[in-house]
Amino acid sequence: MHLIYSVEEMQRHAEQQRCAGYKLALVPTMGALHEGHLSLIESAKQHASHITVSIFVNPTQFGPGEDFDRYPRPLENDLQLLNKYGGVDVVFVPPTEAFYSTGTHEHQMWVHAPSLEQHLCGPHRPGHFRGVTTVVTKLFHSCQPHLGVFGLKDAQQFLILQRLVHDLNFGIELVGVPTAREPDGLARSSRNRYLSVEERAQAIVLSKAVEAARRQILEGEQHPQPIVDTMLQILAEAPDANVQYAELVDTKRIQPITQIQAGQEVLAAVAVFFGKTRLIDNAFVQIPAV
Ligand code: AMP
Repeated sequence: MHLIYSVEEMQRHAEQQRCAGYKLALVPTMGALHEGHLSLIESAKQHASHITVSIFVNPTQFGPGEDFDRYPRPLENDLQLLNKYGGVDVVFVPPTEAFYSTGTHEHQMWVHAPSLEQHLCGPHRPGHFRGVTTVVTKLFHSCQPHLGVFGLKDAQQFLILQRLVHDLNFGIELVGVPTAREPDGLARSSRNRYLSVEERAQAIVLSKAVEAARRQILEGEQHPQPIVDTMLQILAEAPDANVQYAELVDTKRIQPITQIQAGQEVLAAVAVFFGKTRLIDNAFVQIPAV
């Protein structure tokens, strides 16, 4: 497992591996690795012959007052975990200056899709997706993969990145990996470690809410409001939960649905605060065609 810090060295290495005939996959992460990240690596192994994992806590996707400063950065543990897990060829760990050499405030060139940010996390995290699409562009240019592997847990991120590679002709295939969960259903997340014992116990309401939405949709409910109400009722079972949103959108345009149609794919998604800790979960639901 090579450790690479510089963009130029990463580009040289990727070029050599491409010439040698390897199929390159990139698994972008912010570190503090857990089973969810390992499931992405597992999926990358199935699709590619050379795996790069990047670890970069990207400052431009955190808003003012968000947890950038306290975001966990256990790099030594992460490297040990990856070594032990096996199958990772390169860990790319760029320093912040490698991506933002003029400082984040002076950075001028952004990749941005405002129309896809009007719902779900978008309005609550101004600038977040602009930071994500811009840094993923930088990671793709640095690591030159054939394939990018991302978690469906960050559903809006995945849908926006699909538009990024399609609309800007990146020629990179995206693989979306289902959410890895704790035994009780809680989506694994680097932020779960912030939860108190009581909050952790209550946090199962997120997965319960989106699974109930999935069932209701598949049982034939066509109107969004009863489905949203179901999610809100379940979230209300957690006394310490502060709901940011519970929404139902179509996966093409990330816009609210007025009536669910046969053949459509919909996304039921929630975001909840426990204290300062923000958790998200979702269910993608494919409506059968008639
Ligand atoms: P992060 O380090 O949180 O930025 O996440 C890096 C990648 O791991 C993203 O593509 C996430 O969607 C994905 N990911 C995070 N948590 C999970 C999970 N529980 N299951 C599957 N993928 C995940």
